[in-house]
Amino acid sequence: MITEITKAQLLAWRLGTLANRGRATSAQISMAKRNNVAMAIEIAREARQIHGGMGITNEYPIMRHMMNLESVVTYEGTHDIHLLITGHDVTGLEAFK
Ligand SMILES: Cc1cc2nc3c(=O)[nH]c(=O)nc-3n(C[C@H](O)[C@H](O)[C@H](O)COP(=O)(O)OP(=O)(O)OC[C@H]3O[C@@H](n4cnc5c(N)ncnc54)[C@H](O)[C@@H]3O)c2cc1C
Repeated sequence: MITEITKAQLLAWRLGTLANRGRATSAQISMAKRNNVAMAIEIAREARQIHGGMGITNEYPIMRHMMNLESVVTYEGTHDIHLLITGHDVTGLEAFK
């Protein structure tokens, strides 16, 4: 978990430095948003699994984090649409119009 979070933080940090210089592209933002949200939800799911039933009850906030992250998968560009943007950026081919 900590390794994946650290990698995601590095991606966000690099994007932030580019954005501060006005050099971040929308395709780079798509890549970072998609990757980091997917990583975060995977970790939340694993944490929920580790905690068994306690991961589901209201006593701990894990399920709340999972539900928040399910929203983020969809809003501000869905996981799939960001993938299409990344694909276009890499290949120059549009899979959508
Ligand atoms: C909590 C929350 C807050 C929001 N806040 C705002 C806000 O403040 N302002 C705002 O404008 N909107 C907001 N939205 C709306 C959000 O941006 C849209 O829900 C999102 O863009 C997805 O659009 P849709 O719901 O019409 O899904 P659709 O576009 O109908 O997509 C449905 C599914 O099909 C997939 N899909 C769609 N097209 C393709 C394609 N060409 N190829 C492959 N897969 C595809 C999508 O990835 C998705 O999984 C919010 C949504 C949520 C859940």
